[in-house]
Amino acid sequence: MPRHTIARALSATGTALHAGVPVTMLLAPAPAGQGIVFRRADLGKAIPALYDRVGETRLGTVLEEDGASVGVVEHLMAAIAGAEIDDLLVTLDGPEPPILDGDSLSYLALLDQAGRQPLDQPNDQPRTAIAVQRPVMVEHPQKDGSMARAALLPAQSLSYHLEISFPTPVIGAQSFDFAFSAQGFRDQIAPARTFGFLSELEALNKMNLARGASLENTLALDDTGVVNREKMRFADEFVRHKILDAVGDMALAGAPLIARFEGSRSGHGINNALLRALFADPANYRRVELG
Ligand SMILES: [Zn+2]
Repeated sequence: MPRHTIARALSATGTALHAGVPVTMLLAPAPAGQGIVFRRADLGKAIPALYDRVGETRLGTVLEEDGASVGVVEHLMAAIAGAEIDDLLVTLDGPEPPILDGDSLSYLALLDQAGRQPLDQPNDQPRTAIAVQRPVMVEHPQKDGSMARAALLPAQSLSYHLEISFPTPVIGAQSFDFAFSAQGFRDQIAPARTFGFLSELEALNKMNLARGASLENTLALDDTGVVNREKMRFADEFVRHKILDAVGDMALAGAPLIARFEGSRSGHGINNALLRALFADPANYRRVELG
């Protein structure tokens, strides 16, 4: 199986979810073995999309290196992983990719337009996966006294199981199982939109967060339900979006995983801690060539 990039460069402009500023994103083909790299054109700096570059994870996964950062990479990373693109250069003129529709489907549409291109495969740049060899688990206590957990377990193929539980009955308890495939990702996971609570918006805005959030890109919840209910695509869209986030965060492993991901109330922080725990011990995983 060869590595893949995109066939042609293509750009899109939109709003940064947190910074609230317009951003133009250029997706461009990259050479075999480069992986996914973000470039801040405005700062003249590049950051590889890898777990050990993750800094802040409170409201989105932020890559940081050498004084530069790129925020909210997870929805785009999920689309790139879902489209099975291995090598890609993402150039931005601002601090985050444009949020577009708050899902991965809008990024998949761009990748479709750009076309998937097999890369000539010198023997030293095969398409590899990371096969998990023994269970790795992390736990983080939550503010409400509950425990957030995430685990990677040895498995024959990549799958995700996620459970969430929110005190508001609008979300309540939801769980979802997803056996990864490119088509399954496109149909079941990629359309799920990000969500947020209107009661938190003012405080977030004061911290210069969620300044680009709108009823077009975020499912907005209040005490009575989803304010923009007509935007919902699934009854269990919230847990599906959490899987979307996990797919994006796991893509920062730098190669596809062969493992079962299990998460309970998990988020970006614990997802990143999980990859750090995985790679902390070489006995936890094995690199395998995808044939
Ligand atoms: Zn998200």
